Amino acid sequence: ASFDSANLPETIRENVNKARYTKPTPVQKYSIPIINAGRDLMACAQTGSGKTAAFLLPVLAGIFRSGLKADSFSEKQTPQAIVVGPTRELVSQIFTEARKFARNSVVQPVVAYGGTSVQSQLRDLSRGCNILIATPGRLLDFINRGKVGCDCVEYLILDEADRMLDMGFEPEIRKLLGSPGMPDKNSRHTLMFSATFPDEIQKLAHEFMREDFLFLT
Ligand code: AMP
Repeated sequence: ASFDSANLPETIRENVNKARYTKPTPVQKYSIPIINAGRDLMACAQTGSGKTAAFLLPVLAGIFRSGLKADSFSEKQTPQAIVVGPTRELVSQIFTEARKFARNSVVQPVVAYGGTSVQSQLRDLSRGCNILIATPGRLLDFINRGKVGCDCVEYLILDEADRMLDMGFEPEIRKLLGSPGMPDKNSRHTLMFSATFPDEIQKLAHEFMREDFLFLT
């Protein structure tokens, strides 16, 4: 098996080759076709399983396919994809992967996390943002300041969902999902990755994903 069947745009495929990803990991092999087909997905995935590329590659490909224009400088950015993760470390790792896969393309990834000055992150954001990778608190802060709009969201990804709930981020996640302009669950694609599946996670999935979402264990 290779990434040939993943139906990736040429630029992204070249970046995958350059990263020396030759063989998809199991979570990549199963998730990529599901996400490419436009289905919502709840996947069981541990760190180290390759879960990051499992959602980044089809999401980047989807953003490409939706006919992206190069974004110009703007005070308010409306990304096509928002990835939420619990920690600075995790969102930084996701950002590093996203930058690698989006190289030489018009897709601009931006990272935002708390515990550090907002100014440089706002500057990065204002240069263009198609995929925003963020921790919940900083993301809501930017939305509340009118720097990020959810109106163009095609993909919403909750990574390490169980850890976000453990850390007490459920109110932030609910606020994000109900924030002004956020397309409803039938007008966007929602992907959830989690290592464990307590009741609260199942409840979130049923509330915020399409009725026919797939559950990959
Ligand atoms: P993750 O579980 O997404 O944090 O990925 C764990 C590590 O495996 C990261 O360093 C990735 O760069 C690497 N990785 C992910 N998928 C592949 C693949 N198909 N081939 C080689 N390395 C990979």
